[in-house]
Amino acid sequence: MARLTIKSVSKSFGTSHAVRDVSLHVEDAELVCLLGPSGSGKSTLLRMIGGFEAPTAGSILIDGKDVTAMPPERRPTGMVFQSHALWTHMDVFNNIAFGLRLRRLPKAEIEERVEQALTLVGLTDYGKRMTTQLSGGQQQRVALARSLVLEPKILLLDEPFASLDQHLRERLREEVRDIQQRLGITTLFVTHGQDEALALADRIVVMRDGCTEQIAPPDRIYREPQTEFVAGFIGSMN
Ligand code: ADP
Ligand code: MG
Repeated sequence: MARLTIKSVSKSFGTSHAVRDVSLHVEDAELVCLLGPSGSGKSTLLRMIGGFEAPTAGSILIDGKDVTAMPPERRPTGMVFQSHALWTHMDVFNNIAFGLRLRRLPKAEIEERVEQALTLVGLTDYGKRMTTQLSGGQQQRVALARSLVLEPKILLLDEPFASLDQHLRERLREEVRDIQQRLGITTLFVTHGQDEALALADRIVVMRDGCTEQIAPPDRIYREPQTEFVAGFIGSMN
């Protein structure tokens, strides 16, 4: 059974069709990149999987269970946004511990899991820092740790490193790949960068105007683009 099943999902905002009849299966431990230009519906699709947006039509299943009407906090998903998602009035430890406290876990377990999560993202000993003292890259590491500490079945990353410089972005995406493989966590990674998708993904979903243009592994997308749009978009890579 697929970890994630998206069945004919659409989303309209008034007369604007953000996502049109998208279907997709994602296997356990797969890393799938949603790739497309700005406005192609990537974030809307991801937000529907996370439960932050309700589909206008279609359904979403996780491990065969229909979660279409389930609120975000009850879904086994964790989401990392591009930026501005950390609580600035809390230190790093409390940012990460917050969700565990809501689950009423014992204090010792919370401390252990937060430490593990910090180590996983390369921020051992950063617990007492305020998030405002961190660099952009470190803040995104904390956001990632905050999601991972809840042990989601599916990790949703919406252009998590887009605001960082090229060098840091490449380094962090390699770290994400490493963490993803070590944990074996099913991951959807949204990007508008062809190089990023080609470097990271087990499979790429190329999106255009709310539709999927092609769904295939990177080498096939690169060598056998199915549409002119895909060929042009991949070919425009710098
Ligand atoms: P992407 O992430 O690929 O840039 P989005 O999913 O953000 O694309 O947006 C897809 C389309 O849906 C765009 O035309 C955008 O303007 C529209 N859209 C997204 N969110 C909303 C919203 N909350 N209200 C109205 N239109 C929206
Ligand atoms: Mg977006």
